[in-house]
Amino acid sequence: MVICDFGQMWRLVRQRRVDEERISDPAESSYWYTNIRPDRLGLDRVFKMRRTKTPRNGRIVVVDVLSDRPPCLEMADTQHAQEPKNGTSSKKPAPTVNPVAAALMKEFPVTLQATRAKGRHAVAAKALDEGVMVNHEFATSWIVRSPFLRDICHHCNDEIGGGRLQGCERCKWAFYCSTECKAAANDRHQLECSVLPHMIRTATEADCDLDLLRLLFALITSKKREKEGQKEEEKEKGTPFEIVDELISHKESFKKEWLHAVKKGIETLRSHMSQELLSVVDNEQMLELACKINSNSHGFGDVRGRNRDVSLGMAPLTATFFNHSCAPNCIYQGSKGGSLQVRTIRKVNAGEELVVHYVDIFAPRYERRQKLMETKHFWCKCKRCIVPFDQSPDRFLNAYKCRKCKKGHITFDPISKPEDLKNGRSDEEYKCDTCKEEIEPESINEESAKIGQ
Ligand SMILES: [Zn+2]
Ligand SMILES: [Zn+2]
Ligand SMILES: [Zn+2]
Ligand SMILES: [Zn+2]
Repeated sequence: MVICDFGQMWRLVRQRRVDEERISDPAESSYWYTNIRPDRLGLDRVFKMRRTKTPRNGRIVVVDVLSDRPPCLEMADTQHAQEPKNGTSSKKPAPTVNPVAAALMKEFPVTLQATRAKGRHAVAAKALDEGVMVNHEFATSWIVRSPFLRDICHHCNDEIGGGRLQGCERCKWAFYCSTECKAAANDRHQLECSVLPHMIRTATEADCDLDLLRLLFALITSKKREKEGQKEEEKEKGTPFEIVDELISHKESFKKEWLHAVKKGIETLRSHMSQELLSVVDNEQMLELACKINSNSHGFGDVRGRNRDVSLGMAPLTATFFNHSCAPNCIYQGSKGGSLQVRTIRKVNAGEELVVHYVDIFAPRYERRQKLMETKHFWCKCKRCIVPFDQSPDRFLNAYKCRKCKKGHITFDPISKPEDLKNGRSDEEYKCDTCKEEIEPESINEESAKIGQ
């Protein structure tokens, strides 16, 4: 059993249901590239690829075959492993494994580890097959993402089928799949009902993300409910809010403009909150919480495995041990009741680190690194990113077919080290890998702009 988005695409490729073209490069023979069908679009470049949710429309997908992996992808992941051994970092206290997290993981074939060199991480306790569940955490809070408000039940995260829609008449912001779910969500919803209708305006006026504000608010209601001490039988399975409190906010790493917008959103949000909710957190704590959401929240996928990112939540206890790799061996999967599972997508050796992907692994290398730096504050050194660019299949994710020789490709990596994020690359050259024709960077930018449209 293969449970993964690109696994599904791989099957489509095998069934010849999407157009594909195999790059005949023996070292990378297990990378397949589906083709944009440049002939149909009147383009003469082939390899600008973009992931799409539905491969059926013949657009562009890179498919990572799950077996016969090239040797370059069999190396261990080195993420976080290159911290300097001297200086201040060695004086930092070593990270620890929360005993609650360790206890929770007992039912899974996984060992949670924390080392100075690598930070927190999860390791396979034995050899694992593909499709094995290696983590299951219920969120402290989660929300249905705004585009899916009426499609997904706000209590159980399952699809709302035809005719079953049960909504809150007052706010028209909460929807459920059944009267049971509606009743079960009632206590929580009472705290939210009067505030939710103000969300869109608050987010728009502050120019900050609507779903960020919604999840922020949901977390505050969780904290409130916890503070009051729910009755034992009502206690939700979710990870307690105090674990969210322990997360690092990385506030100093966020852009000023972003912090400013969120601050503004928080102020307006607070003007709509009841006194009892206001007493739970102050402005500053809300801003910290927003930063934690940006660094630590997870997309909780469709519970029916349809590869739609329908909800967003905080699962701060065990899920955070699964680090990022652009060549992951696991994926997140949403499951009922607002919980997040992690499953293997290929065979994993005993002792191998279990890694998921935080960003689109079909995006070019520089885009992945840029996104990870912006949102997760690290420079990706995964086993895929440390393969020299000109030897990596990554180079085709952002390449153009040479117009002169019509055979070679112009490949480029505009951000190859962290410093390039600020200044761009000074030494970059755009050269055909076959006829060596040099291309002006401007003309590449023009081409990119055209494709991006
Ligand atoms: Zn439901
Ligand atoms: Zn309501
Ligand atoms: Zn990477
Ligand atoms: Zn050429």
